[in-house]
Amino acid sequence: MEVTRKFKRLVVEIETPIAKTGNGPAVGGKVNNLLLLGNSSENNKENGKRYLVKGIRGWINHAMMAIAKKEGVEVCHTSDKTETQKGVNLLPEGFHANGECYPEKECIKHRLMGSIAKRSILKFEPVIIILEANSKGKKNTVTQAVHVATERRNALKSNVKISIQDFGERYFSGELTIKIEFLEDLTQEELGFLLKGILYAPELGLGASVNNGGGKVHMKRITLQEVVRSSSFGKQGKVIQQEKIRNLWKEMKEGVEAWPKTNA
Ligand SMILES: [Zn+2]
Repeated sequence: MEVTRKFKRLVVEIETPIAKTGNGPAVGGKVNNLLLLGNSSENNKENGKRYLVKGIRGWINHAMMAIAKKEGVEVCHTSDKTETQKGVNLLPEGFHANGECYPEKECIKHRLMGSIAKRSILKFEPVIIILEANSKGKKNTVTQAVHVATERRNALKSNVKISIQDFGERYFSGELTIKIEFLEDLTQEELGFLLKGILYAPELGLGASVNNGGGKVHMKRITLQEVVRSSSFGKQGKVIQQEKIRNLWKEMKEGVEAWPKTNA
């Protein structure tokens, strides 16, 4: 006996010469760009530290905002605040506060990305990286091997030799695969909006230090897939998971053409 689930997903293959993910330095704090998840276990046939690449959903979210603005389509801003305590408007023109459109006039970005009012129908699989040097050339389904470097940052207070900043910033370089699972069916228009957002994302750059040459990303390939995933028991309770995959090129093309809607 097996259990199965059928769903669609986008597989996005990217390459970055150098990226430092995160939301930029917090005042007085260190940049939290890669989350250390600990050491990989012996069973994985790989050694060394595993890191979670943060900020990928936010990166696509901002790219969606950018393309919507270009097309004059109003969508949610990432902020849910409309003004400061002094009444100064915080929202740029062409955006509403995050989730404000829901449920009466839900915008296309909210239908995909959700907000505190409704969960997103897109599930971004965690991107977990390990040092290439430690991967021993083994293909692993959980981790991806890239190059990771740490730059030590020191800032000394003037006149006295007291360090006011002393931390390491991590950079990574290499090829990554981002998988975005659809928890519900997307309309052609929604698929098109998502695809165009991803296509536009390299214009923004990934993560921090974009203005200093970091975060350059080359999109290599985007594939829409139909997946049938099945799990069953093998001997002695061992779980066997399999995926049957079909690429949906025609549906992808139709999606790209469906957004933005032309009123011809
Ligand atoms: Zn909205």
